[in-house]
Amino acid sequence: MELQFVNISKNYGKKTALTNVNLTLHEGVHALLGPNGAGKSTLMNILTCLLKATDGKITLDGEEITAMGARFRDMLGYLPQNPGFYNSFSGYGVMKYFADLKGMKKPQDRIDELLELVNLTEDKKRKIGHYSGGMKRRLGIAVSLLNDPKLLVLDEPTAGLDPKERMRFRNIIGKLGFDKIVILATHIVSDVESISDNCLLLKNGEIITTGSADDLKEHIKGKVFNTPMSQEKAEEYILNNSCANIIKTEDSLFVHSVSDEKPFENSVPAPANLEDVYMYYFNEQSKTEEEK
Ligand code: ADP
Ligand code: MG
Repeated sequence: MELQFVNISKNYGKKTALTNVNLTLHEGVHALLGPNGAGKSTLMNILTCLLKATDGKITLDGEEITAMGARFRDMLGYLPQNPGFYNSFSGYGVMKYFADLKGMKKPQDRIDELLELVNLTEDKKRKIGHYSGGMKRRLGIAVSLLNDPKLLVLDEPTAGLDPKERMRFRNIIGKLGFDKIVILATHIVSDVESISDNCLLLKNGEIITTGSADDLKEHIKGKVFNTPMSQEKAEEYILNNSCANIIKTEDSLFVHSVSDEKPFENSVPAPANLEDVYMYYFNEQSKTEEEK
């Protein structure tokens, strides 16, 4: 399968949200990374045909998706950024409702299999109103998988989840087949570092670079530094530098930072991780609210 974005641009009135996005994607997990406002949801909404691009086209194996209609929708699974479920439905009831909408015949076995995959078997009879945020997200993933989609789009699937729920989510993605194109839009690097085959960095509506996590780390080789410092100096330094954080070990403290030039005389080169890549390109850290 080949999914191609060809010169996709989108304006909301005078506001430009996407500029000439060109991408070619194959089976695997693709992380669409970028800070809030980068244009991730806009791109995902164009891909799922909920929004029209101002310019450009998207093709699947050479065919324009807007012309494929129902055939495209049958291949698509989508978890929107803010999925809404009826609070009075049970988890099972939601699954059944969407299975009926998709015209699935005898969906019970598939529903049970998916509820098991996302760890909701025991809670399937409980009302959604009593589900935690994490449980609702997991249910959303199960819904998006109902029709065994060949193209799975997940928009900020871990927003509002605690670290344990996020780990559970990563395990679910890891269990999905290798026969799908999965696109996972997020501003949280730690969610995708271990599970993505390919990263797409989106900044101010433009794709600035793409590649595997290893490729991207290679790009910033030699730009990551550790600098031993007093706590006081370190705290002052990170206040003025968005591309730096403090790392404490049992017997030492240093500032971990990313820059083109060596920041201090006593700085030593350090290996890059994907969070460093994010800091380098976006000039900010990708940490979730609760980690800050
Ligand atoms: P992300 O999902 O990466 O946070 P979005 O695609 O939601 O980014 O938004 C990209 C940009 O487009 C933002 O500046 C946002 O304010 C703007 N935007 C999104 N939706 C609309 C809309 N319906 N009308 C006007 N501007 C919008
Ligand atoms: Mg978004």
